[in-house]
Amino acid sequence: MNAKACKIDIQGIVQGVGFRPYVYRLARQYDIKGWVLNSPSGVVIAAEGNDRSLHAFLQGLQNDPPPLAVIRSCNVQTIEPAGYTDFTIKYSEGREEKSALISPDIAICEDCKRETRDPSDRRFEYPFTNCTNCGPRYTIIKDVPYDRSTTTMAAFPMCPQCQREYEDPLHRRFHAQPNACPVCGPHTWLVDSVGELVEKDARELLKAGHIIAVKGLGGFHLAADALNKQAVTTLRKRKKRDSKPFAVMVRNIEAARRYCRISPEEEDWLNSRHAPILILECHEQTQLPGEVIHPGLKTLGVMLPYTPLHYLLFDDKLDILIMTSANISDEPLITENDEALKKLADVADYFLLHNRDIYNPCDDSVMRVTALNTPQYFRRARGFVPSGLEVPARRNVSVLAVGGELKNTFCITRKGEAFLSQHWGDLNHYNNYLNFTKGITRFKKMLNVEPSVIAHDLHPDYQTTRWAREQTGVKRIAVQHHYAHLASVMAENDLREEVLGLICDGTGWGSDGAIWGGEILRANYQNFTRLAHLKYVPLPGGDASAGKPYRMALVYLHQAMGESGIESAKRWLPDLTEIELELMANVLKRQRETMTSSCGRLFDAVSAILGICAINKYEGQAAVELETRADLKEKSSYPYAFQSDHGILVMDVLPMWDELLKDIKGRSTVGSISMKFHLTLVQMFTTALLKLRETTGLNQVVLSGGVFHNQILLLHLISMLKEEGFFVYVNRQVPPGDGGISLGQAIIASEVSK
Ligand code: ZN
Ligand code: ZN
Ligand code: FE
Repeated sequence: MNAKACKIDIQGIVQGVGFRPYVYRLARQYDIKGWVLNSPSGVVIAAEGNDRSLHAFLQGLQNDPPPLAVIRSCNVQTIEPAGYTDFTIKYSEGREEKSALISPDIAICEDCKRETRDPSDRRFEYPFTNCTNCGPRYTIIKDVPYDRSTTTMAAFPMCPQCQREYEDPLHRRFHAQPNACPVCGPHTWLVDSVGELVEKDARELLKAGHIIAVKGLGGFHLAADALNKQAVTTLRKRKKRDSKPFAVMVRNIEAARRYCRISPEEEDWLNSRHAPILILECHEQTQLPGEVIHPGLKTLGVMLPYTPLHYLLFDDKLDILIMTSANISDEPLITENDEALKKLADVADYFLLHNRDIYNPCDDSVMRVTALNTPQYFRRARGFVPSGLEVPARRNVSVLAVGGELKNTFCITRKGEAFLSQHWGDLNHYNNYLNFTKGITRFKKMLNVEPSVIAHDLHPDYQTTRWAREQTGVKRIAVQHHYAHLASVMAENDLREEVLGLICDGTGWGSDGAIWGGEILRANYQNFTRLAHLKYVPLPGGDASAGKPYRMALVYLHQAMGESGIESAKRWLPDLTEIELELMANVLKRQRETMTSSCGRLFDAVSAILGICAINKYEGQAAVELETRADLKEKSSYPYAFQSDHGILVMDVLPMWDELLKDIKGRSTVGSISMKFHLTLVQMFTTALLKLRETTGLNQVVLSGGVFHNQILLLHLISMLKEEGFFVYVNRQVPPGDGGISLGQAIIASEVSK
C-alpha cells in the first residue's frame, strides 16, 4: 500500500499535559510511523501511514485529547514520506521549552485516588501519589523548563520502579515530573505543639476535637472537625477571628450534598481539576454549628480534597473539616515547617508536616456559580495560576500591571496572553508586599519576558504605585481604578468597541481626587469619560470609615435630613457614642472632608441603620449580611433623584432615606427594607443607563467592581438591562473585585503604549 505523510502542527495547551505519550499511543494503535516533538509554539508531529490509518489517527488526535490538553489549532500539511520504520518521541532542547507554559496545580485524579485506597497497591495511603494527569505543578516549580530537577522534587531521586514508570511512554506516569512512592518520595510526620514527634493518627485526633495545622499544597491550613462546635469555637478564639466565615473541605460530593444545595454546574466545578472553594447555599437545617462556622450567612465555602494528603484525612466517620488558611490575620500563607511551629504554637494542637517544599505559596481559589450559571471569582489562585488568559493585548509589547492595594494580584502580558499572579492579599502588610515583589521576579523568569511598560493605579499612596515609581528604564502608565475594572470585563469578553460601564465598588482614587465607587463610564481601551456617579457624600477619616458602617449611616442621615438626621442617628445607631457623634457632627458641618461616591459605603450605611452590621470585622461584611437578609418577595423600591453637575449625571439616593426611616419606625421587616434598597439601586442604575444610551448611542454595558459579588444586585440588573435591549457583560475569568484590576490595567497600558 502507498504510504502517505503529513506534518501536523498543534497549538494550545499541549505541553506538560501528557500530549506526546498520547500521540505515541495513538500512533501505535493506528500503525503510524514518524515522530512527535514539543516545539516553542506547541507540538509537531510527522506521521506516515496509509490513507485510512492516517485519517483515523488525525480524527483520534482531535476527538479525544488528554483531559488537561486544550487544542486551539491543528494544522495539517502533506509532505513527502521519509520512510520511517517506527514512531518515536523526540526530545526538544531546553531552549525551546523556555516559552512553554507552566501548568497550575491539578487536583488528584480518580486513578490516583483508587490507588491510595487499595491495600494491595504500592502507593496505598501514600499522601504524595500523582500522575501525568494530576498533582503539584506551579507550587513546586522553581524554573523553566518544567523538569523534575527544576522543582522541589529534585531532592527525591526516583527509585527504579518509579523511574521505569517515568520512562515508559505507555504508562500513565510517563514524564510525570513529581512522580513518587513511599520508597523514594516525600513523607509526612505528626508532631505536637512543642514539636515532639507523636505516633498517632491525624484522623483520630481530628475526631477527638483537636486542631491540626496541615501542610498542604500551596501553604498550611488549620483543620478541625466541622461538626464539633467546641473545636470550631476554640479555633475561632485561638485564631482571633471574630466572624469571617471559615471554609470547609468535605469528603466527597455526597457528603457535600448533606450540607448544601448543589446544581449540576456547581458539582462540575467542585469535581474539576481546579478544585476551588465554591460558595454554596446551605440547607435550612444541617448538623453544622453554622453560628460559629459562617455567622450571619446562608452560604458556605466548600471544597473537595484536592491532594491525596487531604483525601486521606477523611473516612466513614469524618466527612467534613474546617479547612482555613493558617495565616495570622492578613499575613501571607505559612509555607514552612519551622515557621508553622513557631507562629501557630498557640493555635494548633498538632502539626501534620511533610518534607516536600512549597516554592510558590498559593491560596485556595474561591468562586461561585451565579444563578445564570456563570462562574464568578472571589479569588483566582491555586488551580488556575499561572494559566494565561487569551486577551486582545498587543502581541509585540509586554506589560506588567501591578494591580490594587487590597486583594492584590499583578498581571504580565506576553504575546496576546495575560498571566495573572495568585492573590497576595493586603500589600500594607510588609510580608505580603515582599511576596508580591518576589512574585514579579519569578513570573518574569517563568514567562521569559522583561516588560517594557508598567501600569499602576492612579492612587498616589498605594504600595504598588510606590513600587512602580521606583522602577527605572520602563514606561509608566497610571490607570484610574474603575476604568481598570471596566477594561477587565472588556478584555475577558474581547470587546473592542466603546462601551458603557457601571462600576459598583468599595473605593478607588478618582481623577478629581475624590474617592469614587459608584460610577458609569464610557470607555474603550484608549480612554474613558465619566458620565455619571452616585451623589458625593463626605467620607470622614477617609478609608478608615470603611470599617465603620455606622459612621456612613450617620453621614447619609445627615446629608439627607440635616439636624433631624443626626437625631435619628442617635436613636438608631447604638454603636455611635456621644463623643463620636459630637466630633462627627462638627466634621460634617465643616464640609472640608474627602468626598466619596462609593457604592460599597452606601451598602454599609444601609446595613448599619438596619442594625444588621455596624462594624465590619472583615471586608464587605456589612454588605454581604445585608444581602443575606433581603426578602426576595418584596417588589417595591424607594425614591431617588437625578441631577446634573457640569454635564455629569448625578445619581442621588438621598430621597430614599426619609422613607427608609419611616419603614424602620413602621416596623417593616429588615428583610423587606433590605430588598427595597437593592431594588432602588437596580431601578436607578437602569434608568441612568437608559438616559446615557440616549445621549451616547452605546448599547453594550459592562458590570464590574467588588459590589457585584452581590447576587441580588447583579442578577436583577442583568435581567432588567437585557429587557431594555442592552448587551450585558460581566467578569467570568477574573474577580469583579480588586483581584481583577491588574488585567484591566494591563490591557489599557498595552493599547496606550503603542
Ligand atoms: Zn493521577
Ligand atoms: Zn519510588
Ligand atoms: Fe475596586
